[in-house]
Amino acid sequence: MADAGEIREVILNTVDALVLNWGGATQWRKPLVGFASAQDSRFTRLASRPGSPHALPQDFLAHAGSVVSFFLPFDEGIVASNVGGGAGVSREWATAYVETNALISRIGEHVAERLHGIGIEAVAQPAVGDFDEESLACIWSHKSVAVIAGLGTRGVHNMVITDSGCAGRFGSMVLDVDIATDPAIQRERCKHNATGTCLACVELCPVGALKPDGSFDRRLCWAQCREAAKAFTAVGIAPVCGKCATGPCAMGPGA
Ligand code: SF4
Ligand code: SF4
Repeated sequence: MADAGEIREVILNTVDALVLNWGGATQWRKPLVGFASAQDSRFTRLASRPGSPHALPQDFLAHAGSVVSFFLPFDEGIVASNVGGGAGVSREWATAYVETNALISRIGEHVAERLHGIGIEAVAQPAVGDFDEESLACIWSHKSVAVIAGLGTRGVHNMVITDSGCAGRFGSMVLDVDIATDPAIQRERCKHNATGTCLACVELCPVGALKPDGSFDRRLCWAQCREAAKAFTAVGIAPVCGKCATGPCAMGPGA
């Protein structure tokens, strides 16, 4: 059986190689990868949240040992393309959403295959999982997993801000071995949460879904995303907006 260091190397190298060899229209910056223990108590807390239950790693693998989270940060040009324009979402941003979802699936398949070859079971989670249009929550939140894996912290815009910013997409998978190390001490990456001096995302939201008090109107946001998707049916299924992810924390920590 490979040791934790070798398993991590397999995962990191596979993700990097697949990003570099994508061959579509979308370009990404260097991916980030984090690891969490499947026994982390924050998974249990998530699973018992009221109203919208969240799965446990053990729901996918009975002997789950760890959870891998990865972030695929969009290239600067994609972020720039979505700045301004009112509620209109750029074609580049919508395309990046569709292609990144496809890449997340590809990463899941390839990493699981590589790990299987060294005797490890891995279950990849789909880029867009069981999304409940009633509660507007997923049974498995890649963003919540990313926070547990130490990749970033939530900003006022409810996105996760990593050391490479928030403009991009997350994926995750469950492994039957524990390769997590002690979680990194989380550093606050939202400038408003750190110093109270930024609400750029609130200003950027074209429909007022984000409020200065930090509250978030999911229904207004989802309505904007669904409306935006109508312009990109030829690109794929792209209910996205991301205007709030083009501000000071788009490409790096806001704080
Ligand atoms: S734009 Fe400013 S307030 Fe909003 S999440 Fe980013 S750093 Fe925080
Ligand atoms: S994704 Fe768009 S609608 Fe939703 S909060 Fe961000 S800016 Fe507002």
